[in-house]
Amino acid sequence: MRHSRRLDKLPPYLFDELDKAKQRLLALGVKVVDLAVGDPDLPTPPQIVERMREAVTDASNHRYPGYKGNPELRRALASWFRRRYGVELDPESEILVLIGSKEGLGHLPFALLDPGDKVFVPDPGYPVYANTSMMCGAEVRYFGLREDNDFLPRIEELESLERAKLVFLNYPNNPTGAVAGKEFFDRIIDFASSSGSMVCNDAAYNEITFEEFRSPSILESEGARGCAIEVHSFSKTFNMTGWRIGFAVGNRDMLAALGRVKVNLDSSVFGAIQDAALVALSLRYEDNLRAYERRRRLAFEWLTKLGCRFFRPKGTFYVWASVPHGLTSVEFAVRLLNEANVSVAPGSGFGSNGEGWFRIALTRPEGEIAQGLERMASLNLWTS
Ligand code: PMP
Repeated sequence: MRHSRRLDKLPPYLFDELDKAKQRLLALGVKVVDLAVGDPDLPTPPQIVERMREAVTDASNHRYPGYKGNPELRRALASWFRRRYGVELDPESEILVLIGSKEGLGHLPFALLDPGDKVFVPDPGYPVYANTSMMCGAEVRYFGLREDNDFLPRIEELESLERAKLVFLNYPNNPTGAVAGKEFFDRIIDFASSSGSMVCNDAAYNEITFEEFRSPSILESEGARGCAIEVHSFSKTFNMTGWRIGFAVGNRDMLAALGRVKVNLDSSVFGAIQDAALVALSLRYEDNLRAYERRRRLAFEWLTKLGCRFFRPKGTFYVWASVPHGLTSVEFAVRLLNEANVSVAPGSGFGSNGEGWFRIALTRPEGEIAQGLERMASLNLWTS
């Protein structure tokens, strides 16, 4: 065996079959409309790129950066957080720079969980929470995100499960696009404080919201600092997925534990990227939101015309829509790929509650989104 037993604990990767099929088509020269992957097509704002260009020549950036992130960036993050959420953070102990939010989320179970500990994870959900928890030997308990509760967990369902050491949340939510308001976070913090659980809210999409909805931070809820952290990202807000920078904020003990894992694994983010990220904090990102707003409207129009039921999301750049009657999510995605050369993410890849759904990513230009949906319509799957 050339891998650890730990890896055998990982569930099969459900997108595997589709990825392979997509690669086969691409190798044949077929033009696939890719609405599966959530990776912004819009470029990083020029001010950020320009700052990076200068910062790369600064010799102080050629050395190891500090483990927690540059103090200047952490101070700027504290002021950004105060402006945006009205929450005061200590840059020394309540902010930790990450190599993208995925890095922090994936290392968190190693910092907080022992073998046998229970961890609550959303289904459907971003697979990193469950998979890295399993690698640590923790026991994953899924809670359902269902349409009849706007894809929010029911607190009673959480209460009915055996106490969790850690609860992962993700609002605005991938894959459903659902958002959570402050009252929901208040209830979660009450639940966590009374059950002695820790909470991590993945807020990677917090700045991508629509229809006048502004995502709160979980740290706005009273008592949150006692038991919760929140993970943020530059990736989606500033079209910086390739740059790899994010940050975690909140409970100092949880962050100190995460920092101890990271000290042994990485040496933080290249200083020039941190300098460039600092510039991002003073930029507005309305243009981005307007582009997604137009793409959303286009997708809603097409899906309505198709007779396809969908959730009208207030956050993220995804649309969560239901597959035609009689097909599983994977069957639908495979047919769509092979017969119409359009790639979408099958809902069951995000967990068993995702069965019956598929996810469209609005990270392609309007023309391509329209082309993808037109091809989808040509299959006539909803009318039969
Ligand atoms: N959380 C969620 C819910 C995501 O969808 C993603 C990326 N797809 C991430 C975290 C990771 O983002 P990054 O590491 O680029 O900050």
